[in-house]
This record gives sequence, structure tokens and C-alpha cells, in this order.
Amino acid sequence: MDFLPIFIDLKGRPVLVVGGGEVAARKVGLLLRAQAQVRVVAPELCDALRQMEQQGRIDHIAAAYQAAELEGAILAIAATSDEAVNRRVSLDARQRGMPVNVADAPELCTFILPSIIDRSPLMVAVSTGGASPTLGRLLRARLETLIPASYGRFAELLGRFREPVKQRFKTLAQRRRFWEQVVQGPIAELVYANKDTQAEQALQAAIDQADSAQLAKGEVYLVGAGPGDPDLLTFRALRLMQQADVVLYDRLVAPEILSLVRREAEQIYVGKKRAYHALRQEEINGMLIKLAKQGKRVLRLKGGDPFIFGRGGEEISGLAQQGIPFQVVPGITAAAGCASYAGIPLTHRDYAQSVIFVTGQLQDGTVDLEWQTLVQPRQTVVVYMGLAGLQIICDRLIAHGMAATMPAALIQQGTTPAQRVITGTLADLPQVVAQHEVHAPTLLIIGEVVRLHDQLNWFDPVS
Ligand code: SAH
Repeated sequence: MDFLPIFIDLKGRPVLVVGGGEVAARKVGLLLRAQAQVRVVAPELCDALRQMEQQGRIDHIAAAYQAAELEGAILAIAATSDEAVNRRVSLDARQRGMPVNVADAPELCTFILPSIIDRSPLMVAVSTGGASPTLGRLLRARLETLIPASYGRFAELLGRFREPVKQRFKTLAQRRRFWEQVVQGPIAELVYANKDTQAEQALQAAIDQADSAQLAKGEVYLVGAGPGDPDLLTFRALRLMQQADVVLYDRLVAPEILSLVRREAEQIYVGKKRAYHALRQEEINGMLIKLAKQGKRVLRLKGGDPFIFGRGGEEISGLAQQGIPFQVVPGITAAAGCASYAGIPLTHRDYAQSVIFVTGQLQDGTVDLEWQTLVQPRQTVVVYMGLAGLQIICDRLIAHGMAATMPAALIQQGTTPAQRVITGTLADLPQVVAQHEVHAPTLLIIGEVVRLHDQLNWFDPVS
């Protein structure tokens, strides 16, 4: 992070603006909206600034800039057309430890002014850290259309009830849940429909009638995070990720996805090492129960889909036995994600009418699968966890009658910027793979459909 966004209270506080042109006028306008006490140093003022001065909204020092003008100010902004003056203001301010902004010169700034969406008291700030103001403005325009004007009034209403809610609910967790229900429910709709009085009455009633015990109840969300690309999360996954108190995640969940979890949520890594598998799984199951019993909203975030080779069923059966509420959110499983991003349709009228998912995990040095079931005509076979046993899998399939020329693909880190697709046949894929440095996770797809990869490959990030 290059800049920490903070919102600063400038009401009645002295700010110095150096420069008298249009750019300075825009900055002054912003400062006045924040009710700052603005002093402008410039030999001359443009029309807009002159008008502000005549209205008594700003003080004007009609002179060239001198360092002494900084005295007493808490912030300085330089917006002259003279680069040397801007540079001096920046230097003088920094020497005094005073935050300074210079228009269009990020290297001279110690703070930057973001693009803002103003629904006071609600305020959204967007910044690209000076990298691309155009991109910042574009995003701001999009957000403008997303955030109804009534959000300002809504925030103001909620602000008035903050204290009563604090009195009514003892714990922070209860208050947060109460507010979440309010902002997502019918009270919000009343505000959007401009029925502010009714909204206020409904909010008062909700405070009076809320069940504190209910608000303190824990629950578990078993959520599939998809194969890697954060864009492949479901809306529901994202919503629950945003309201969890604690998250248990494993190795397969990408940092980009984890960064979408509510920032205040406690993060617990429960990634499994193969050797400790059995023990660790029980610890995870126990931890889910323990945390939910503490009244927490527990997010169990898993790669892909929780019910496909994810032990999701085991994790929630303990919860079911203990009567702890839970919900399960499907995710895009690796087979679907990798197939799409590698341009390999899992079924296709010309090549495959069925698809089968198996796990190729090595057990006692071998892979134990129903080989005959896999060797069927017009069927695609998808093998999860198949890298270590790749050679054995290919050999067994050939031994059970699958053509040695059958196309096969190994997809590494599918759907992510590090995705790579290695193709070959049952006979040669293990050798081809051995020539590459392969990074987990990888998925194996075997079947005639793999031929389509050359033609349909659309996502090719590392080539
Ligand atoms: N529940 C998960 C699977 C967990 S098993 C799901 O539905 O996808 C872990 C295996 O999934 C890995 O060994 C690998 O075979 C596969 N896998 C998961 N994400 C993957 C990805 N992005 N690319 C390739 N394979 C992946």
C-alpha cells in the first residue's frame, strides 16, 4: 500500500493554497466543502477565486509565495503554473512536517486527493496512487451510478440511532448483526423510496423488538471459493465473506480471494499437510464447532466446490449433530474452471457424452481406481490430485484398454495468471510433464475433447 486513505476533519482549520488559477480554484472549492478556513497566496486571482474572496469565503494574500505563509496552516496545497514555486512549497512544507499536495506532481506530494463520491455523511474515495487519474475517474463514475443518492440520507438516519443501538445491545457483535439486518432489509428500502419518516419509525421498532439472543448466535458458512480467479466467486460467497467474524481457509484459496474477506475477520490457516491429514481434519471439524458455539459467524472457505473432493460433508456433519446452523455455498470446481479456461469442453456432441471426476491421490505408492469404469468410449475423465500418480494412471488406463494415443492435458494453476496447459497422449504425457517445472495445483483431463484445446484455447496468460 503506497498511501493510507484517511478522512480528515478540516472544519474551521487553516489551510494554505498557493496559486490563483483555475486548478487552485477547484482545490479551494473542495476545501470549502469540507468547511476549511482557506487562505490563498497568489499575486492575482482568477474570476472564480475572486468571487469567493468577495463573498468572504476565503482570505487572499496578494503577494508572491513565501515560506512564512505556511505558519499556522495544517495543510498546504500548491497549484501554481510555476514548477519552481510548487517545488518550494513542497520542500518548505515537508521541512515543517506539514502534509502537502502539489497539483499534477505526485512526486512532490505527501498526500493525494482522491476522486470522491460525496453522499455526505457517506463518502467514497477512489485513488490509483497517482498512477492513473483517468482510471480513478472512470471507477468513480461507475460507483456514482451504483450508489443511490439516498445513501447519504440513509447514513444520516443510521448515525442518529447509533447511540440508542449502543445502549440497547451490549456486545459489538450483536450491534454489528443488528445493523447488517437493517442495511440489507426493508428499512433500507423505505429510505430508497423516500419514506424517511416511516423508515425512522421502523428502525425504532426494530431496536425495541430485536431479539438479543438471536443476534448472538453463531453459524457456519461452508463456501466454495472456486479454482483461483476471484471473478469466479458467487455473489453469495462474496456476501458471506463480507459478514464473517472468522475465516478458516486452506492452501488452495488464493490471496486475492482472501483479501475479499471482511478485513476485521480473524484469519486462520488450516492448510493440510498430507502426512497429518486425518488428525488435522478432525481438528478443523472441532474448531468449526467451537467457534460457532462462541457465537461467531464462521466462514469455512475452500478451494473449488466444497462437496467435490473437499471433505465438505465431513466438516458439516458435526455441526448438524450439534444443531449448529450452517449453509453451504457451491463454488466452481477445478474441473469446470480449468476446462473452461483451457478451452476443453468436458462434453461435446462429437467426442464425449459423459464426464467422470475421480481423485488420483497416491495411497501406499499406488492409485486405486475403478479402471474399467474409466475406460469407456465417449467419456471424459477428470483426475483431481493426479500429478504424483500421473505415470501410474496413464499406464493403468492403457493396460485396461484405453488407446495409448488418447489425448490428455495437465492444467496447472487453472484460471489464474499462472495457468499453463501441457498436452500430450496417455503414452507420452508423463515424459512431457517431466520436462516442465510444474507447480501445484494441477488437474488432469483425459479424452478426445482435449483435441479441441488447440482450437478453443482463449486464455493464455503466460505464453
Ligand atoms: N474442492 C476442490 C478440489 C479439492 S482437491 C474443487 O472442487 O475444485 C484439490 C485438487 O483440486 C488439486 O490437487 C487439483 O487437482 C485440483 N485443483 C484445484 N484448484 C485447481 C486449479 N486452480 N488448477 C488445477 N487444479 C486445481
